[in-house]
Amino acid sequence: MAPSERDGERILKGIPVSSGVCRGKILIFGKSQHCIPAHTIGEAEVAKELDRLEDALVQTRQQILEIQRKVETAMGSADAAIFDAHLLVLEDQTLIDEVSRLINEQHLNIERAFHQVAEKYASTLGAMDDEFLRERAADMRDVTTRVLNNLLERPHESDLRHLEEPCIIISYDLSPSATALLDRKMVLGFATDTGSKTSHTAIMARSMHIPAVVGLQDASRQLETGQYALLDGFNGYLILNPTDQTLFEYGQLARKQVNLEERLRDIRSEPAVTLDGVRIVLSANVEQAADTEAVQACGAEGVGLFRTEYLFLNRVTMPTEEEQYQAYRSVAAALKPHPVLVRTLDLGGDKFLTHLQVPQEINPFLGWRAIRFCLQQREIFRDQLRAILRASVEGNIRLMYPMISGLDELNQANALVETCKSELRAENIPFNEGLEIGAMIEIPSAVLIADALAKRAKFFSLGTNDLIQYSLAVDRLNEKIAHLYEPTHPAILNLIKMTVEAGHRNGIWVGVCGEMAGDPSLVPILLGLGVDELSTSPSVVPQIKFLIRRLKIGETKELAEWALTRESGAEILARSEALCRQVAPSLFEN
Ligand code: PEP
Ligand code: MG
Repeated sequence: MAPSERDGERILKGIPVSSGVCRGKILIFGKSQHCIPAHTIGEAEVAKELDRLEDALVQTRQQILEIQRKVETAMGSADAAIFDAHLLVLEDQTLIDEVSRLINEQHLNIERAFHQVAEKYASTLGAMDDEFLRERAADMRDVTTRVLNNLLERPHESDLRHLEEPCIIISYDLSPSATALLDRKMVLGFATDTGSKTSHTAIMARSMHIPAVVGLQDASRQLETGQYALLDGFNGYLILNPTDQTLFEYGQLARKQVNLEERLRDIRSEPAVTLDGVRIVLSANVEQAADTEAVQACGAEGVGLFRTEYLFLNRVTMPTEEEQYQAYRSVAAALKPHPVLVRTLDLGGDKFLTHLQVPQEINPFLGWRAIRFCLQQREIFRDQLRAILRASVEGNIRLMYPMISGLDELNQANALVETCKSELRAENIPFNEGLEIGAMIEIPSAVLIADALAKRAKFFSLGTNDLIQYSLAVDRLNEKIAHLYEPTHPAILNLIKMTVEAGHRNGIWVGVCGEMAGDPSLVPILLGLGVDELSTSPSVVPQIKFLIRRLKIGETKELAEWALTRESGAEILARSEALCRQVAPSLFEN
């Protein structure tokens, strides 16, 4: 559906990332540093701006005290003490004096003056040699962002938990951790200025069944809280003041969707088997233990990727070994006998701990992320490995490492697992001695040494989200280069083929848990390239099963063989999509 503007309507086009349509009032939610009003003020306004500064500081202080009280009740006074450092920032007289001086002498408006001074302080702290002082930079940014949000009358990230009425969130960007906080009953949908299909924010939206559109450029600046809009997560439109005719057309689309969903429900318990009898393992990706119900409801055969880092986000301490054990065990127990593939921590990139202040990196996706972080933070890694091992007594857990770039990382991680096993044996704590351990293949170097990795792993899972970003040098979060993020690029298809062949040569299975597995237009190619398992968001599993049951493996192999001889990703995508439209037209009706 491609709407055109009617009377009084305004249509903004972005990138659709999570299907569904919703309508309601919009709420602008801002990372304030991206939209600071900057102007000068008249002498007469100086006193008013100073009053606003004082009010914002008082309001921020009350908010932090409130959070501190809640944390103290829930987790004890040691954890709550973390917020003392935040309160101190608000009392920092040097900071307040400098902001006041900029208002008094240079007549800057308060938001600009405050932002300028706060950024100067945070950058200076962030560049210090002393680790303790460096960590204070994050405290400083957190508090000053809250002050700016208060000045701009915008909600703060953690306030997203307590929305008072249903709304569509519009934001410059939204972190994966903030997305995880969204209250599904209150957030009808969300749209951001930045982002792309494989950002963890987009992935989270799909997993939460929230319609979402990203890459709307400067919607968060142009629009205002309270405006009425319709958000089309199928096609990537945000329509302001939709007319009756537009609402009627979207009503028809909703009816088609209901019909399709009924057909998809009918095959929920059927296997994902092609028309010529080839069985594909179709699993689901989960982010939180609570997603288990969605896995059962969508008809997936277990979990092909449990992104465990979400257990670590939005909290003020690390989850203990026991807490993690309970989470992993509960998912495994609920889904037995289907496998549950628990991926070890993949922090970094676009997912950061709020309580462990990690220095900001210039290239976080190329930096201290995933297995690299874990192999240097042994205590954190050890707790997680022990928790997974303990949960493995359920019998259906598998373990997988993210971001393996070389043999040494795999060997080191495996050695640590062996140490944890010895400890557990000595403590008489049971675990599954036959626990299968695999590696994600998501870095080109891993593909090139896949034979060696396969000799030390029981399976591979292709993380195509990262494999594409690292092979094509295209930041998976950046909407400006989203057109270059091309899953059917001949180089990508060759890398997938090499991985599948290396895996099979060494007698191990190869799955795909990146978003390629959940894109109907790409599934024929993946099947044709010989992957054994597809794992995707529970919200997409029914459609992928529907499609697999209408394809013949023979035609997918023909397609893949042809694709490997082509030079144009667009041409390959067009033919793969044409095949899907031919065998399953109803999947493409909206
Ligand atoms: C991937 O990179 O494809 C993947 C599944 O992992 P993540 O999206 O969590 O980086
Ligand atoms: Mg990845």
